[in-house]
Amino acid sequence: MFVKYRQSPCMRSFVFVVTLLHLLVSFSCKKKKSQDPESPNLSSSHFLLSDDNYTKLQVEIQYIEGYQPRTETLASLKSFMQQRMNKPDGIEFTTRVIPSGLRPNYSLEDIRAIEKTYRTSNGSGKTISAYFLFLDKDYSENAGSYSKVLGIHYGPTSIVVFENVIRQFSGGVTQPKLYDLETAVTEHEIGHMLGLTNHRSPMQTDHEDKDHPAHCNNTECLMYYASETSDIVANLVGNPVPALDSNCLNDLRANGGK
Ligand SMILES: [Zn+2]
Ligand SMILES: [Zn+2]
Repeated sequence: MFVKYRQSPCMRSFVFVVTLLHLLVSFSCKKKKSQDPESPNLSSSHFLLSDDNYTKLQVEIQYIEGYQPRTETLASLKSFMQQRMNKPDGIEFTTRVIPSGLRPNYSLEDIRAIEKTYRTSNGSGKTISAYFLFLDKDYSENAGSYSKVLGIHYGPTSIVVFENVIRQFSGGVTQPKLYDLETAVTEHEIGHMLGLTNHRSPMQTDHEDKDHPAHCNNTECLMYYASETSDIVANLVGNPVPALDSNCLNDLRANGGK
């Protein structure tokens, strides 16, 4: 799922740096047009995808005890990002266990509060950082709904995965493997973080699903809206984790990715 988010402190500080750089450029080149800090080329997606300012990515992976994503899943996520992101100095994962929340489920506000308490890095120097959180309880908005949200991209470099719901929907005789569902949902949220679809990576051809903004209209693509809800469960049985289609790949390449 994709939600609109405010700029994080990290985002604000790098917009400030970019603005400062731009002032320096303006002084030396008066003809240059002023840059809009919200323009796609100044977005976190561009800096995540390209090596323009940041040559290394550090991903902080945090989980509640007992809800750690599989080692094979983490290896696939790293490989997925290496294939799309220009980070010549590498992509590094750190993992940490954090305590469970006291409430029966998590609202977006709760999730942001957890990040504020436990996230340690907003990147520094040539390193940009991201935050992936794996939780032990349901999303508050899932209560009573037939189609469950399994993951959310809720901040410029922040992703949450409802690992308990993923486990409910995987591993059984008629269900997909835990690895497949974890990988599909988290890669879909990484796709949003990288600006898909028609979010911060501008579309090269029109392929946004008009009924589901920020999603691809190709039912076979990783960025099809159903890939992050329990609707994908039946589709994953006996099928591989969906990949990005050529339209989504082209958008990422045009915004600095591989
Ligand atoms: Zn989505
Ligand atoms: Zn697509």
